[in-house]
Amino acid sequence: MPILRKSRGKFFNKHRMPADRNFWIYYFELLGKLEEIPEAHKQELENWRPERSNCPELTLMIDNFIKRIPIAWRDVAREIFVGRVPAGEIQATAWTEKHAGLIELNVQFTWVLSAYVDTYDEFYFATRGLIEEFYRNGSDPAIEAMAKTLQSRLLDPWDRLDEKKLAWRDPRLIESGTLALVQSSRPGREEARMILVSACEEYILAHELAHHLLGHLVKNRGKARAREVVNGYLRDDEIWKVYSPLNKSQKDEFEADILAYLLVANGVDRAPEQGYMYRAVLSSAMTQIALAHVKEGWVYDAPDATHPNFFQRFSLIQRLTEILSAGMPRGVIGDHPMSALGQVETFSAVALHHWRSQVDNEVSPAGIYEVVDLFFKRFQATSRKIGESYPEGDDGEFD
Ligand SMILES: [Zn+2]
Repeated sequence: MPILRKSRGKFFNKHRMPADRNFWIYYFELLGKLEEIPEAHKQELENWRPERSNCPELTLMIDNFIKRIPIAWRDVAREIFVGRVPAGEIQATAWTEKHAGLIELNVQFTWVLSAYVDTYDEFYFATRGLIEEFYRNGSDPAIEAMAKTLQSRLLDPWDRLDEKKLAWRDPRLIESGTLALVQSSRPGREEARMILVSACEEYILAHELAHHLLGHLVKNRGKARAREVVNGYLRDDEIWKVYSPLNKSQKDEFEADILAYLLVANGVDRAPEQGYMYRAVLSSAMTQIALAHVKEGWVYDAPDATHPNFFQRFSLIQRLTEILSAGMPRGVIGDHPMSALGQVETFSAVALHHWRSQVDNEVSPAGIYEVVDLFFKRFQATSRKIGESYPEGDDGEFD
């Protein structure tokens, strides 16, 4: 059983970081950019003392998770220290050592996620623009011109990501992010993007916390009470079909994915609310897409792989979203977690297609019309799943 004081001590000791310092002060000092932090903000950061984490944002997240989980699991969660680390590998880890329980999140992961969130935002605006135009003008020739512009807006970010991902794979390089964290290429969208990046961090933290809660890191794993909740979901036929052929390490990862989703959705021991569901859908999907794209883990199925592949992990997100939200009514603007799922499914299809067009000469990158078409198809499938009939494009499947 970990003890917070020991967990904290172990972290600062291992990384040789000053134990009284906020991560951001430490990091910007390391980069020689301390003067970039606004004076008023600096004071606040300097007065802050690490307790459960060396970073104020991560402290807030772990505090929230402690409140969200059943009382019986809290004693483990309370004793874990969450540390931000200035390391270049795109990863987060959970580990234990004699009376210490740790979660570490590499700062590079956050910079990488912020680039994918930026690309998602571009994708969202590009497709939405064209869809609205279709509704308004039908087959106006002006749409042709617009489609051309949107086509480049859809694909350019992927070319930039491809250039960057080679550097991202080099663990010696740490990109020096700015204090704004998210460098948005669309003015006015910084805050929305920032919220999504922080949701992705929350999902990653939840995944690592899940390894602790599920007893994956200790010998006596059968005792972990969180297992009951995960076992309940493993009884679902569709989830079981993906889970059962996995190797032991992949099974642990898959279980951690289940609990992470539930933690972010605030649905561990209650029915989640709509707002939390959006957070869970977008953050889990975005994180898996970013990981698959950078590490090219779309389709690998080596028997000794430590993690399930993208399709296995993504199908879990799809199924959990369906189980938890299919019965929810639409929101005030017609929104629904299943529609958000449709959006990220389309986005992942573009990402995957882009990758395939690079490894296979026969495949050309996705065009904007194909994307919009796919989007409509997903939209219809979504409507079916939430039990509505969608008048246009009735393909005779619903009755
Ligand atoms: Zn894991």
